[in-house]
Amino acid sequence: MPHVIERATTGRARCRGCGASIPKDTPRVGEAVPNMFAETDGAEATHWYHPACAAYRRPEAFLQAVEGTDIALPERDDLAAIAAEGVAHHRLPRLDKAERAPTARAACRHCRVAIPKDAWRIALLFWQDGRFAPAGFVHASCAPGYFETSTLLDRVRHATPALTDEDAAALAHEFAQT
Ligand SMILES: [Zn+2]
Ligand SMILES: [Zn+2]
Repeated sequence: MPHVIERATTGRARCRGCGASIPKDTPRVGEAVPNMFAETDGAEATHWYHPACAAYRRPEAFLQAVEGTDIALPERDDLAAIAAEGVAHHRLPRLDKAERAPTARAACRHCRVAIPKDAWRIALLFWQDGRFAPAGFVHASCAPGYFETSTLLDRVRHATPALTDEDAAALAHEFAQT
């Protein structure tokens, strides 16, 4: 089954990227994934995403779906550029969100040093077996090294809607450390 873009027929589906519902009649991206729970081999399920969430989190599926659609996406070129970035730097889609470390227990996946309490860190998700699984953290200052790009701020802001401008400035400062 190919990945698709269609207008949401109901407002009930939740986006697998951000967890928010996808409004009826707005475009949504459907990724065909193996259905792990089906009795028959080759069965597939569809995971729905807001177009932007798909571009950030499932870039290959987004680009394939965009190729095959005649549904007009107003922000298509911008989203295709975001997805292309995620394909070029294959760790980028793992970026879950930015947060201040609530404890000092986690070690950075990039430098292996503990992340101090209250320091900015980037949470990671690995996509495996048809779902996103929490996969640890990197120091915000290690993020450009880990993701192999320093073009991170727009992505972090999309992934972390609660960030204030002040938070974003602090993160930009961290990303510039490397
Ligand atoms: Zn979403
Ligand atoms: Zn680190």
